Amino acid sequence: MKSYYAKKAGIDPSKMYVVSVMPCTAKKFEKIRPEMINDSLQNVDSVITTRELARMIKQANIHFTTLEDSEFDDPMGEATGAGAIFGTTGGVMEAALRTAYESLTGEELKQLDFEEVRGKKRIKKATIKIGDKEVKVAVAHGLSNAREILEEIKSGETDYQFVEIMACPGGCIMGGGQPIVTSKKRNEVDVRAERAKALYNIDKNSKYRKSHENPTIKKLYEEFLGKPGSHKAHELLHTTYKKREKYI
Ligand code: SF4
Repeated sequence: MKSYYAKKAGIDPSKMYVVSVMPCTAKKFEKIRPEMINDSLQNVDSVITTRELARMIKQANIHFTTLEDSEFDDPMGEATGAGAIFGTTGGVMEAALRTAYESLTGEELKQLDFEEVRGKKRIKKATIKIGDKEVKVAVAHGLSNAREILEEIKSGETDYQFVEIMACPGGCIMGGGQPIVTSKKRNEVDVRAERAKALYNIDKNSKYRKSHENPTIKKLYEEFLGKPGSHKAHELLHTTYKKREKYI
């Protein structure tokens, strides 16, 4: 936002105030990490959770059901189905597989749904055939399951080419900042399954279902980032993690 978007919109990035709406309380800490600073500017100034946003909407007496639908603002307004499913366990993996398949084989992927990585099983393992290659993948959600898969890798028992880990059981749809599910509600409806279903429906009905086909993303690379994995892309889109003390 403070680089590409600021340039496109002709705004001085030091005068921008970026607010992220997140399913995740951990993002409130993440925004102050030194890795999230570029050109001396913090990438994100404020993080509010979806639950906080919902409360603000209610306080302002805004009734969503009576509002007209509208599109997101350009030039960053276009999203894909692949992006939508990031919110559920296995979604990042599935989105990446769609792109990996086409970039490695140069062929069109016809069957877009990777059922092997969907569902609420605590650890999902699969071998996916991409052209003449066999790609071993694993998906874990919930930290005890993540630990299990990491221990397996550490011991040399298995080798995976790609591992997806989500800290929250079910993925971001059940993040700590999401609307709270009361025990009464939990008895009435499987909220996790319903939220996942909603994302898969968005994906199914999306005009674009592969990240690399998103016209906005294509333009972003053409005009600004260069190639995927370029120096600039690394600087702005990637990060690294190191062990830190639990309490600072
Ligand atoms: S899985 Fe949970 S901790 Fe991880 S980004 Fe999503 S909401 Fe945050």
